[in-house]
Amino acid sequence: MSIAYDHLNPPMMACGHTANASNGDGSPSCIVCVGIHPGAETVIEMPDLTGRMARCTCGKEAPSDSRKLAFFESGLLRALSSCSVCNYAAIAHTDEVRARPHTRNTKLGDGHTFQPKDDPGHDYYYCGCRGWD
Ligand SMILES: [Zn+2]
Ligand SMILES: [Zn+2]
Ligand SMILES: [Zn+2]
Repeated sequence: MSIAYDHLNPPMMACGHTANASNGDGSPSCIVCVGIHPGAETVIEMPDLTGRMARCTCGKEAPSDSRKLAFFESGLLRALSSCSVCNYAAIAHTDEVRARPHTRNTKLGDGHTFQPKDDPGHDYYYCGCRGWD
């Protein structure tokens, strides 16, 4: 079963972004994370955005609104999906990934368990400051 992608009311994806693209069958996806984050094609419940502000990398802020802001990303979901020790996603904290040679040079290789970050208290979006191409 697939849910049609409504660009006026994009659903929240498990990667933490609102959907910003659709697959060939019309189901929503996140073009930023597809192929990188396993949640890029999974719809989850919208987190509570009441009273939150979203920030662009340029420093501009706007009230968090998943319907109006481009490339909206939940700060809470971003925090919960990355590790406070090594910055890697939870899925990277497996024996299989740790056995790979390159992890020996990162904090990921030290054997700690995944520790999610705290909610930063704000969300993220893109205000258009660097153009839309
Ligand atoms: Zn994403
Ligand atoms: Zn870690
Ligand atoms: Zn900006």
